[in-house]
Formats: sequence, structure tokens, C-alpha cells
Amino acid sequence: MMKEKADLHIHTCYSDGFYTPSELINLVKEKGIDKIAITDHDSINAIDEAAECGRSFGIEVIPGVEISTDIEDREVHLLGYFLDTSNEELNKYLTFFRDERFHRAKRIIQKLRNLGMNISIDDVMDTAKNSAVGRPHIANTMVDLGLVKDYYSAFDNFLGDGKPACERKIHVSPQSALKIINDAGGLSFIAHPGYVKESILMTLIKAGLDGIEVVHPSHKEYKKRFYKGIVNQYCLLESGGSDFHGGKKGDADNLGKYCIDASKVEAMRKRLHKNTA
Ligand code: AMP
Ligand code: FE
Ligand code: FE
Ligand code: ZN
Repeated sequence: MMKEKADLHIHTCYSDGFYTPSELINLVKEKGIDKIAITDHDSINAIDEAAECGRSFGIEVIPGVEISTDIEDREVHLLGYFLDTSNEELNKYLTFFRDERFHRAKRIIQKLRNLGMNISIDDVMDTAKNSAVGRPHIANTMVDLGLVKDYYSAFDNFLGDGKPACERKIHVSPQSALKIINDAGGLSFIAHPGYVKESILMTLIKAGLDGIEVVHPSHKEYKKRFYKGIVNQYCLLESGGSDFHGGKKGDADNLGKYCIDASKVEAMRKRLHKNTA
């Protein structure tokens, strides 16, 4: 029998992804992926639809989330898997983070307007709807309004870190995010650690991180080997995925190319049972 494949890092239109949960499940099926985790930024609102659609296609959907944190002035993204989506505290925090994203989007728009651009928050929210709004939505809107030539030039010239219209998100420490994930019964992973200083990774491992995203489009072979070594050394769990968004990001080819063996999901489930035993 062919080994089952899992992609544990995927976004939908409930954050900055392009596809609805049902559209996404159709694509996942086409690519022959057996298990996925939906990991929207600051939202778990896609999970119910994705899980229901997944069931009819024979695809397992693991409830996940991606939370942006900062430490030592650097952004670190944490993934939570196997969350209890009815957990009140989790929902309270995610609603708060999304509200904060909306206020930040308004500040970014004000900066763009100060730079002479004719763009409003309504233009952005027309496409972002009630999702967790972020810079990708603003970049898309800038393209649609003809203010920039493409998605990446919006970041390079205006929205990227340190660029004239960039605004930070609210400060959340990785330790707080770990607690939110753990208290909702989930397992915590560091996302794309290739962007993160090794000393910070070590701080998070000491703080109780459950695992590392080893496979990611931004990780070359030597990085994957390096993180696998750390996973083994500290008895951590291993994850991986495409970080697929779809749309103007131009990452359509990534879906199906950054999978991990589904046995890794079973290792996670075992750890969950151990936690609750
Ligand atoms: P936000 O959560 O609103 O800060 O948006 C972060 C997202 O914007 C990241 O997950 C990337 O998808 C995208 N992004 C951030 N910086 C850049 C960049 N320089 N070029 C392209 N995309 C970027
Ligand atoms: Fe994203
Ligand atoms: Fe991320
Ligand atoms: Zn992501």
C-alpha cells in the first residue's frame, strides 16, 4: 500500500488564503493528500466546513491555527494542532487577535493614504470580509486598485517589515500562545523555524514546545536535516506542510509537494493521549 501523505499547514479564506474550505478540500483530493491541518492565522472558523467536506472525500482534517508571536523583537509563528474548537478561552483570544488585526489594518491604510494612495479600509474589507485581516489582503487590494504592479511589489515598497506603511501586530509572547494552545487541548509547533534564531528555538523548547515544522517550502535539505536532529535530540514531534495560500501569492504549485508521512500524525495523537492519560 502507498504511504499516506499529510500536509499540516494550509490557509483558507478565513485568514489570508484564497479558497473556501470546500474548494480547498477539492484541491487537496486532486493532489492525493490524505490528511491536512487547516492553520489559518488567528482563526478556527474554517474547521467545521472543512471537516464536514473532508469526511465526504475521505480526508482527515485536523483542527489547527497559526498564531503570530513576538520575542526579542522578532516574529515567531506557532502552530496549534488538535485543538478543541469549542474551547472558550481559545475563541476569546482569537476574536481579540482578529479585532486587533482590524485596528492595525486601519492604521496601515492611514499610512498608505498619507503616502497619497487612494485606498480605504472598506476596499480591503470588501475582499477580506470577516476573516483575520492581514497585510496580504491589503496587498491584494492595492493590486486590484492598480496602486502597485503586483502582490510582491506591495510588500517590497510599502507593507514589508520596516517599509513605510508597515505596522506591527499586538505583542503576544510565544509563552502566552503556548498556554492558549495547551489549554485548548492542542499540541504546539514552531512554524517555519528557518526564519528564527536558534537561541529563540531553544527558549521555546524549554518553555514546552511539542514539536517543530521540519518540512516547509522555505527549508532546504540541510535545514530539514538540522531540525530533524533537534527533534530527535529533544524527543519532540515532527510536522510539515506547504503553507499553501493560493491566489495572488503564486504558490499553487506547492500544494502536494511539501507533505509528510501520515505516521507523523499518529505520533502526535499518541502524545495527545499521553497528555490526557
Ligand atoms: P500579517 O500577518 O498581516 O503580518 O501578514 C503576514 C503575511 O504576509 C506572511 O504570512 C506572508 O504571507 C506575507 N508577507 C510578509 N512579508 C512579506 C514579504 N516581504 N513579501 C511577501 N509576503 C510577505
Ligand atoms: Fe499567511
Ligand atoms: Fe507563518
Ligand atoms: Zn502559514
